Amino acid sequence: MTLLDTLARPLHDLRISVTDRCNFRCVYCMPKEIYGKGYQFLPKDQLLTFEELARLAAVFASLGTKKVRLTGGEPLMRRGLDALVRLLAEIPDLDLTLTTNGSLLAEQAPALAAAGLKRVTVSLDSLDDTVFKCMNDVDFPVARVLGGIDAAVAAGLEPVKINMVVRRGLNEGSILPMARYFREQGHILRFIEYMDVGHTNGWRLEDVVSAREIVRTIDAELPLLPVDANYRGEVAERWRYADGSGEIGVIASVTQPFCADCTRARLSADGGLYTCLFATTGRDLRGLLRAGAPDDDIRAAIETTWVERTDRYSEQRSSETAGLHKIEMSFIGG
Ligand code: SAM
Ligand code: SF4
Ligand code: SF4
Repeated sequence: MTLLDTLARPLHDLRISVTDRCNFRCVYCMPKEIYGKGYQFLPKDQLLTFEELARLAAVFASLGTKKVRLTGGEPLMRRGLDALVRLLAEIPDLDLTLTTNGSLLAEQAPALAAAGLKRVTVSLDSLDDTVFKCMNDVDFPVARVLGGIDAAVAAGLEPVKINMVVRRGLNEGSILPMARYFREQGHILRFIEYMDVGHTNGWRLEDVVSAREIVRTIDAELPLLPVDANYRGEVAERWRYADGSGEIGVIASVTQPFCADCTRARLSADGGLYTCLFATTGRDLRGLLRAGAPDDDIRAAIETTWVERTDRYSEQRSSETAGLHKIEMSFIGG
């Protein structure tokens, strides 16, 4: 079955945030000044249980969802995550993947792979310790993330993709070293334009390094050629190295919005269904689950939410949208 929204976009992907907590304080996502010691994260009883998550994922699959990505916060902070992976892996024909900061991957990769996880995306913003530590703001060294990536490869969680958010004045000098290194390693590096998610990161348009500038920087040293998209809804614009040594992606959410092809729903850690990364409200699925609703009622709630979906925030981004009270990315899942 294919469920279409008001702009004829199918519900193809589901991103599940399994926790709103994180052991990093990336300056563009969970700045320390806001997410300090006194910050109130969700209490455990408000998080969806693994059984609730697996039940929802199965309902989504029955509505045509083909891909589930576990995210957060930092998903590997959720204790025993491999048990959730095992439940989700039982859903037929579901592409199951995860986005992580890599800090806990070296320990967990074997168990996640054994539980049925297919592959991972690891976020890493620089290979330079000083720059990386400035960005994660918890003094976390690059080497341990690279160790996590190696462990993912050893466990067969491939292809490994690497996400790098580029923020002007912080890490644009890391674009080329990252491109060289991951080309050599054979991993797909994806550059992400710094976005105005949430309202705590102090986003300014001047801090965005555009996809065009990123491609130009790499192309000057390592010539690039464009590649066609794999499927509708693929958010990364793909480029391959002219010498055949692999490819990169650029996610131009700010300068070239792709709302027309956005096929993603997001589930927050407390069971809210959001149809846009920039949404201000979500539909409470946890309430339905805990009130004892049968699958048909849950399916109907998801269906109505998707069919009524009109979101295209990035295409409408303006001074008016900038002031909206948006949900934080660490809560809704990146
Ligand atoms: N903690 C995990 C991680 O960092 O990979 C998963 C959650 S994180 C919110 C998901 C992705 O969102 C990461 O690749 C991160 O770099 C990206 N992200 C976070 N804040 C962003 C922002 N303001 N602009 C663009 N990407 C952002
Ligand atoms: Fe944590 Fe990921 Fe956000 Fe960084 S981007 S603070 S690792 S959730
Ligand atoms: Fe999708 Fe919303 Fe991003 Fe547009 S702004 S691509 S609708 S998540």
